[in-house]
Amino acid sequence: MLHKDVFEELMNEEELDKTVSDIAARINADYDGKELVIVGILKGSAIFVADLLRKITIEGVQLDFMQASSYGSGSVSSGNVRIVKDVSCNVKERNVLIVEDILDTGNTLSHIKEHLLSKGAASVRICTLFDKPGRRKKPITADYTGKVIDDLFVVGYGLDYSERYRNLPYVGVLKAEIYS
Ligand code: 5GP
Ligand code: MG
Repeated sequence: MLHKDVFEELMNEEELDKTVSDIAARINADYDGKELVIVGILKGSAIFVADLLRKITIEGVQLDFMQASSYGSGSVSSGNVRIVKDVSCNVKERNVLIVEDILDTGNTLSHIKEHLLSKGAASVRICTLFDKPGRRKKPITADYTGKVIDDLFVVGYGLDYSERYRNLPYVGVLKAEIYS
């Protein structure tokens, strides 16, 4: 099947670059003179966090990763979050910025945020490329949001559908007939 039969473009490379630059500028201003640990959530945020980090000018900024599983191989959230990989650096008394691909029901990020706070982080903020507020089940909001979207299933730029399409340099909306 051809890519164009599977999804429609939501954000092209230029729009993604501008979105990431705008978020980075806000982070650079907010954390100026402070210490910062960026925690990318695998695997979906891998490309976003890589692009974002290169635009961060905070001196001594550190990068770490966590992985949680809430979605299985399909497109329905289980609500049952499990930490598959924890941070390897010490977050105690440090400012942590979680970088996520999508804030959807909020199950994943509320679990991860609680986890990092329980490890003694001084502050935990959330940066997400996409936000689907209409799907929220937990009272959680992002501090930095790339784009608010409707209840659509998006792929590309790190985001997958059954581990496919992460390689697309743009973001597309997967047509419902593909996953329903
Ligand atoms: P939550 O726990 O907020 O329901 O789920 C968040 C996770 O679900 C995201 O990190 C992402 O991995 C996955 N997810 C939610 N919506 C989408 C989507 O539209 N496309 C893709 N590829 N993943 C999604
Ligand atoms: Mg994810």
